[in-house]
Amino acid sequence: MKQTAWLLAGNAALAAVYVLAGQFGLSIASIHASASAVWPPTGIALAALLIWGWRLWPGVFVGALAVNLGVPGAALAAPGIALGNTLEAVVGALLVRRYAGGCRAFERTLTFFRFVFFGAFVSTMLSPATGVTTLCLTGSANWDQYGAIWLTWWLGDMTSNLTIAPMLVIWLTQGLPRLDLRRSGEAAGVLAAIALVGSFLFLGPGAYAGQTCHALTYLAIPPLLWAGFRFGERGAVAGVLLTAALALRGTLTDRGPFIAASPNESLLFLQAFVGTIAITSLALALAASERRKAEAQMRLQAVALESAANAIIITDRDGRIEWVNDAFGRLTGYRADEALGRSPRFLNSGRHPREFFRGMWDTVLSGRVWHGEVVNRRKDGTLYTEEMTVTPVLNGRGERTHFIAIKQDVTARKQAEQALREVREDLAQSNARLEDLVSERTAKLRESVAELEHFSYSIVHDLRAPLRAIQGYGAIIAERAGGILPPESREYLARMQTAVIRMDQLIIDALSFSKAVLGELPLRPVDIETLLRGMLQSYPEFEQARADIVLKGDFPAVLGNEAGLTQCFSNLLNNAVKFVKPGTRPRILIRTERRDAFVRVWVEDNGIGIPPEGLRRIFGMFQRMHGAEYEGTGIGLALVRKVMERMGGRIGVESEPDRGSRFWIELPAADTEGGPGVCQTGAAGGAVAPESSRAAAIGP
Ligand code: ADP
Repeated sequence: MKQTAWLLAGNAALAAVYVLAGQFGLSIASIHASASAVWPPTGIALAALLIWGWRLWPGVFVGALAVNLGVPGAALAAPGIALGNTLEAVVGALLVRRYAGGCRAFERTLTFFRFVFFGAFVSTMLSPATGVTTLCLTGSANWDQYGAIWLTWWLGDMTSNLTIAPMLVIWLTQGLPRLDLRRSGEAAGVLAAIALVGSFLFLGPGAYAGQTCHALTYLAIPPLLWAGFRFGERGAVAGVLLTAALALRGTLTDRGPFIAASPNESLLFLQAFVGTIAITSLALALAASERRKAEAQMRLQAVALESAANAIIITDRDGRIEWVNDAFGRLTGYRADEALGRSPRFLNSGRHPREFFRGMWDTVLSGRVWHGEVVNRRKDGTLYTEEMTVTPVLNGRGERTHFIAIKQDVTARKQAEQALREVREDLAQSNARLEDLVSERTAKLRESVAELEHFSYSIVHDLRAPLRAIQGYGAIIAERAGGILPPESREYLARMQTAVIRMDQLIIDALSFSKAVLGELPLRPVDIETLLRGMLQSYPEFEQARADIVLKGDFPAVLGNEAGLTQCFSNLLNNAVKFVKPGTRPRILIRTERRDAFVRVWVEDNGIGIPPEGLRRIFGMFQRMHGAEYEGTGIGLALVRKVMERMGGRIGVESEPDRGSRFWIELPAADTEGGPGVCQTGAAGGAVAPESSRAAAIGP
């Protein structure tokens, strides 16, 4: 709704302006009432359609129709003429949009020349072509006048598009220039100069026909150049319009250099002049502002290059340095004047073979970019490494004119890389040395272990031999002289025999312990249920007749050593069967519990339990909590703890006197990923919940 209203208003306003401007144009028409050499509406219509779009074409049509209906004797031709005027504006706007950038046609010389061709020269032929033909067809004009009227009409429209249209587009789209006091003064000066020269040429006392020298007309140009150079497009169009107005006023009042045989002819001369100064002034103004912009941009680029962190060298096509930036000085230590005119070869370090530079030249001479690392020498003789890119610069004809080399100092990085390499090499060497040392020590250790093992075996053997002798002779004495010995001596003999058995057990246990500490314990998945059931069947002390031993629930496989585990369970079960009140039948429950990646196996008994102070020590060597009524050496649990540790597991106990004991061992589950290594570190001790009884029980 609102848009339609605006559109209607816009069209109406355009039509009204068109009519006013048209009436002015027709008021000075002389060759034909409908054809004026000065026709402002064309420029107004083109500018309006360029700025606000082709939807304003009805305004053009209505305006043109209204103007032409008012021309006496040509009313019949009015629709045709209006159609031509409209077509001219619409096609002109389309062509300018398509080829000259629309409203931006007056920002660059190239687009302005395209505007001149399409917007002023070509599109304006449509109006006279339609208009004059219609006039002749409707009888308003004679065919023999066709050419003359056509030319007048065309020239009027063209000049209008060269002066009025740029003026409107530029001033309406670019707005007023911001002028300070000094610039305003200069602007006033330019206008005054244009007005003065124009008045002198076209209106002055000497301007009456025949008196002004025609050749002086060119005097109009310098002030226009001033306007164009100093105030750009806006200055140029304003100056041209002012000059055109003065020249028109003079010509209409029979003054100035354009007065010819007929008023129409005078106006045609005038228009040729106006068109020429319009094109010249605007083109010059645009060229000047383009140059200004390019210069500003170049200044910016120069600052950017100058202040770039990387060193930049520009050489001519023979490789002589033409320019270097500040960073060049910082990188090489040479001042610009020491480098200019020389070949960059003076930086050579001698570190690269000839072929290296030949390769570089081959690349850039074939028009490609060269990139690589170069070691060069500074003025102070030190070396530095740079990453360099050399780019050949070609001119419009494809010839090499310059080379640009951009150099980045990578010395620090290179040094760091070198240091890193050296450290790595050192490390590798130390590693190798360390490995040698380790394997040497391991070999020695193995030797010692083997010796120790041998030693302990022979000790055990040597110790057990006399024991067996004592036991054997004891048995012979008991058998042969048992009857005659007094009861006291028989008692001593029996005690001696018991001591010998204990001693023998001690020696066997000590040997097992040393084996657990020194021997190999390779880890494999172990099915504990099968292992336990096998033990229950083959160990006489675990027979059903002596104890109730029950396995309850699932028994997931664990990662351990079968022999080690057998030793552990045998000790735990032996203790559970042994440490019960006399007359009590041992009841033992074995069950498992899954604890994340670990399996905990519980051995719970109904025995005499362990006093709290004993829990701390129980896994130490030779620690016994109960008296001589219970046999033992105090080595068993120390052995279990050692074996568990070596398999990457743990052991613990919960117990109270007379309430039985619950021993547990924990090992990695066999189905856990990560293998034994992970299990060993995971089982280092801290993972157990800090319940006092349990924590206290994890060994001394
Ligand atoms: P040993 O059984 O040869 O004495 P151990 O190292 O196996 O040696 O056990 C150390 C001590 O821990 C035992 O002497 C005993 O006092 C106590 N103990 C071990 N197991 C149990 C148990 N199941 N019930 C009560 N006390 C036990």
